[in-house]
Amino acid sequence: MTQNDARIVICPACATANRVPAAKLGAGGKCGKCASPLFTGAPLTLTSANFDAHASRSDIPLLIDFWASWCGPCRQMAPAFTAAAPQLEPHMRLGKLDTEAERAIAARYAIQSIPTLAVVSKGREVARQAGAMPTSAIVAWAKSAIGR
Ligand SMILES: [Zn+2]
Repeated sequence: MTQNDARIVICPACATANRVPAAKLGAGGKCGKCASPLFTGAPLTLTSANFDAHASRSDIPLLIDFWASWCGPCRQMAPAFTAAAPQLEPHMRLGKLDTEAERAIAARYAIQSIPTLAVVSKGREVARQAGAMPTSAIVAWAKSAIGR
């Protein structure tokens, strides 16, 4: 890897693709279109409008929390997932997918139970884990999924 290797980073605010030198991923870059920070230290909300950009177009692997508001274990795990974001960025993007609001995406991934965590890189699912986890386990599992 050289200094000039660019990575496609999808803006969490407007889903525009930004090219960022690999060496500057963690340098607090902003979106060229809307000037929002490219990494916020928090999970973003995945919808049909931004899902494919983050799951398929981005060079940053996407860690998805498939959840629903009626799911107690999902709500219990939510703070742990949020706390994992600053530990995994900028090597991963964390996003939450409401399986009730975005049924088509949940169906595409054949989500059987929630919470389910999945890692998707360039459109390909590389890991999946059902059940709630504490922050430390989320971080360790996600890092192993992307070989870090
Ligand atoms: Zn933007």
